[in-house]
Amino acid sequence: MGLLQLYILLLAMVLTLEILAAHFFERLEMLSTLRDRDHLTGVLNRAGFERAVSAVYAGRTQVIVSLLLIDIDEFKAVNDALGHPAGDAVLQHVGAVLIEHSRAGDVVGRIGGDEFTILAVGLDAEGAWALGERIRRRLDEKVVAVYDRKISACCSFGVATVNIERGYETLYVAADAALYEAKRLGRNRVVSGSADAG
Ligand code: GH3
Ligand code: MG
Repeated sequence: MGLLQLYILLLAMVLTLEILAAHFFERLEMLSTLRDRDHLTGVLNRAGFERAVSAVYAGRTQVIVSLLLIDIDEFKAVNDALGHPAGDAVLQHVGAVLIEHSRAGDVVGRIGGDEFTILAVGLDAEGAWALGERIRRRLDEKVVAVYDRKISACCSFGVATVNIERGYETLYVAADAALYEAKRLGRNRVVSGSADAG
């Protein structure tokens, strides 16, 4: 084999390897995207949401972060009355409304059976409450048709806003306490929590 032929052979091998590697990384990225998605609603699943939160918090300073915890009201009754597929349709509806109302950069996830969340970087307390109220009203007004029934997927919202330096746990605990309060006060409402309360 001549030198030129050897050179062409090596070049072909390198090119083939490059193409294979590109396919491999493309597949890997596709798989990790699929792994992080909740297949029912299209938002991030719990693990995906946690990964995204870690990425948001990594090395960031001097920025305000808001968290909205959103839990469907009396959701168990929908499953009990109309069946699990009807409950799934309600979950899909809520996921779609959250995606519709979120901005680029917001992290939207389903972190429990009927519990969703939005992490909004740079959104202040007033803006976070207003966002929650917009979504709450939309869910209250817009019914989802399941079989021949029309159901509205009312939700309760717990909202909190803290500086990123205080960590995600502080933000979550405050939003969770606010969500508990929203349920206690009668559901279908937005309650803002304070990271300094209790
Ligand atoms: P509350 O207003 O206090 O939130 O009452 P709730 O009935 O919504 O609360 P609860 O936590 O008791 O109900 C959540 C239900 O969500 C229970 C479970 O059967 C249902 N669930 C969890 N995951 C899924 C799912 O993937 N599909 C369906 N259809 N239901 C689910
Ligand atoms: Mg619920």
